Amino acid sequence: MKKYRDLSPSPRTIMTPGPVEADPRVLRAMSFPILGQFDPEFTGLMNETMEMLRELFQTTNRWAYPIDGTSRSGIEAVLTSLIEPGDRVFVPIFGRFGHLLVEIAERCGAMVSTLEQEWGKVFDQEQVIRHIGANRPHIVAMVHGETSTGCMQPLADIGKACREMDVLFVVDAVATIGGVPVEPDEWCIDAVIGGTQKCLSIPSGMAPISYNQRAEAKVLKRKKIERGLRPAHHPESSQTQIRGIQSNYFDLSQLQDYWSADRLNHHTEATSMLYALREGVRIVLEEGLEARFARHRAQEAALVAGIQAMGMTLYGDPTCKLPVVTCVMIPPGVDGESVRAMLLDDFGIEIASSFGPLKGKIWRIGTMGYSCRKKNVLHILGALEAVLARHGARVHTGQAVQAALDSYGRSRYE
Ligand SMILES: *Cc1c(COP(=O)(O)O)cnc(C)c1O
Repeated sequence: MKKYRDLSPSPRTIMTPGPVEADPRVLRAMSFPILGQFDPEFTGLMNETMEMLRELFQTTNRWAYPIDGTSRSGIEAVLTSLIEPGDRVFVPIFGRFGHLLVEIAERCGAMVSTLEQEWGKVFDQEQVIRHIGANRPHIVAMVHGETSTGCMQPLADIGKACREMDVLFVVDAVATIGGVPVEPDEWCIDAVIGGTQKCLSIPSGMAPISYNQRAEAKVLKRKKIERGLRPAHHPESSQTQIRGIQSNYFDLSQLQDYWSADRLNHHTEATSMLYALREGVRIVLEEGLEARFARHRAQEAALVAGIQAMGMTLYGDPTCKLPVVTCVMIPPGVDGESVRAMLLDDFGIEIASSFGPLKGKIWRIGTMGYSCRKKNVLHILGALEAVLARHGARVHTGQAVQAALDSYGRSRYE
């Protein structure tokens, strides 16, 4: 038999837009023994997790629970449950993840319309609102923090307009939850999807979601159709077949029954991931949302000060910069992939490349969750400067780390 080596992943400094370093407390939580999914001790943990997620999402929504799967499973569960085939869905796109919303909505049978913003910018909310008014979609789906471009879209006005026009508003807050303010109730978001492996510093594998009564009403309407309330011989019966929620795994009506006091059996809850989620969100709430957002801002400021002190240029409109992802233009003549490889091999640091039109043009540096620490920011600045010098890039040397230290000043951030 072939002998495989013991697993021993290298310790890394992960400065990407996800997955980021998991908090050691989260990793410890994952090693605890399994409990049965209907064991009262476990259902107690499930209930507590829902309560904690409501705090994380700053919402009074009844429903806040995780979908088992990566972040896109949360997006897919929400869209699959809300979109009836033929529904008009409007997706304003300002980066890669907008296209993901389109793809999923199309698979759900939606008639999708889009508006595209040049990458590196976000939408003027009025422009989006005018489009909604003119086209009256059933659902508007939008990304909050675009990790592909490092931009963050203001949402409050769009949300209020959707509410007034009775349009459901779905938001992908995968990259922002736990790192910058996300306020579904204030911004009139009907369904919101978060991610674990970004600012929550939990491994990938769950997607916390929350939705309000308006979204639930649509889900329950589709549930009634699905459960055959219309007789089989009814002329519309062939239609009723497809109008129900087409997925079992992603059926929010079944999932909320499973998470409710009824505990109607659905899937087997991912025990160790639930431990991880509970611990990860507990850490966020212990730190306090405001303090956590301020920490992310302070680390971002230090990173940006260091990058600029090297004479490098940031990518994207600074007025809509996503605080947890900093996009940097690759200096002329420098092979971006070679720099990333050297950072990884010699310094154990990972930063991200980019997609589509930005491929080879920018690096993306994440400052998310547990990875968002002074030690990491100083480490990446020192390492990047050294690696760029090795690559013959014309950058100012000797100033990046100093500029970051100045930025921290006497702040207490670690
Ligand atoms: C990372 C990310 C996703 C996808 O997450 P997966 O966990 O890879 O499914 C979706 N939307 C945004 C904005 C993201 O940053």
